[in-house]
Amino acid sequence: MQFKDLGLSEPLLKAVEAKGYDIPSPIQSEAIPAILSGKDVLAAAQTGTGKTAGFTLPILERLSKGRKAHFNAVRALVLTPTRELAAQVADAVAIYSQYLTLKSAVVFGGVKINPQMIKLRRGVDVLVATPGRLLDLYSQNAIRFDYLEVLVLDEADRMLDMGFIHDIKKIIRLLPKKRQNLMFSATFSSQIRQLAQSITHYPIEITVSKNQAANAVTHWLHPVDKKKKPALLRHLIDDEAWEQVLVFCRTKHGANRLAAYLEKNNIMVAAIHGNKSQSARTKALAGFKNKKIQVLVATDIAARGIDINQLPQVVNFDLPNVPEDYVHRIGRTGRAGATGQAISLVSADEVKQLKGIEQLLKHPIERRYVDDFEPVHEVPLTAKPAQMSQPKKIKRPKPQHFVKASIKAKWAARTDEDSREAKKRDQKGQSAQKGNKQSKADSKNVDQKKNAMKKTRSKAWNKQKNQSVRKSKPSGKRIK
Ligand code: AMP
Repeated sequence: MQFKDLGLSEPLLKAVEAKGYDIPSPIQSEAIPAILSGKDVLAAAQTGTGKTAGFTLPILERLSKGRKAHFNAVRALVLTPTRELAAQVADAVAIYSQYLTLKSAVVFGGVKINPQMIKLRRGVDVLVATPGRLLDLYSQNAIRFDYLEVLVLDEADRMLDMGFIHDIKKIIRLLPKKRQNLMFSATFSSQIRQLAQSITHYPIEITVSKNQAANAVTHWLHPVDKKKKPALLRHLIDDEAWEQVLVFCRTKHGANRLAAYLEKNNIMVAAIHGNKSQSARTKALAGFKNKKIQVLVATDIAARGIDINQLPQVVNFDLPNVPEDYVHRIGRTGRAGATGQAISLVSADEVKQLKGIEQLLKHPIERRYVDDFEPVHEVPLTAKPAQMSQPKKIKRPKPQHFVKASIKAKWAARTDEDSREAKKRDQKGQSAQKGNKQSKADSKNVDQKKNAMKKTRSKAWNKQKNQSVRKSKPSGKRIK
């Protein structure tokens, strides 16, 4: 199939050709005719599949046939979770609409609101926005939605992860009921399904195989001790002669620390995360794109929307807490049919995250050991191979007179004198209960019974102790 078979008009075909696309990607082949039909669309497609052109081209096609935007009005609204993604989508809209007379704009937080208000004054055909800034603009009467024709939720799963659900609901309440709804998401949790149900009406559902982008990516992990991770990364950068590598860190502090370490080691590096100003983030990204910066260290949120053609290398310096983020992260490489590598540096304390990711992928990630960086603290196995599974433990009934360790220790600490006194106290107590009639013979009997009980308890205790020692022995096996 070719772009000209999809129902797009000449100005759009010309823009696609100028961009250098030969054939539509699978999501484009399916989404473009569906969106042109005017129906709602629910698409499971992750980044790197060409989804942006998949919704932008048919939206522009439809808008080019309608009436121009009114003052302060928006005809198509694309909501994205991050500023980077918003800027990226807006760039794509500008490129694809270059031979049309449609107007587009982008609004997001972290920059002055006034220039954005001025841009909206004459109305825009396509507005790309992050939810928070859009609501700010609405509250200042800078935007109207009464002429809205299309709503797009891009990377909807990420929007929910980032806590935008209330903003999204607020925005939807402001929109006209009659509109076309398009929702794109890499993953489909029950929460996403619920949101889709509340937004879309009888949508056409499109799924491009989940790992279509990631299939072009080879990924594995290097087990390594936590404190050796920076040195291993440096070693890999030198040894593999990586020219452009995107490194993911879990925290802003971690990203800063790593960037400082690499800088000290004469590597051209920049960090992007939520604490950096928008201009610093844009500058770092531009430097990375034109290869002035060799290593870009980013947190998940800041990295969202980074689209670099032919990015060959992604490194997970830390594993993400949310398993889906692993798929998003490795999807940064191997885009649009190119191949890529994604490498994770994993320390023993990250086994929980690793397990979650492997459960999502439904297979274990290959482990490769690097000479001189083999971990002292081995990353535990996440799934036991069949031959390693231990026989089921036989549950033994608890001994009837199980004695707590603390009580036993108290007993052991008693001196003979203590025990004689304790005996006397016991006897007194007993005799007080039974009254003065209690005979000496009876008290002798009690003593004998008590001694017998002590012996039984002591035996039970030793048995219990032996069992627990046997149970806690480690299996001692390791995989290569
Ligand atoms: P997206 O999934 O929309 O972020 O797109 C991922 C990358 O694929 C972007 O760099 C696009 O420029 C590129 N791309 C989109 N559609 C095509 C296509 N039909 N052929 C080649 N590259 C494409």
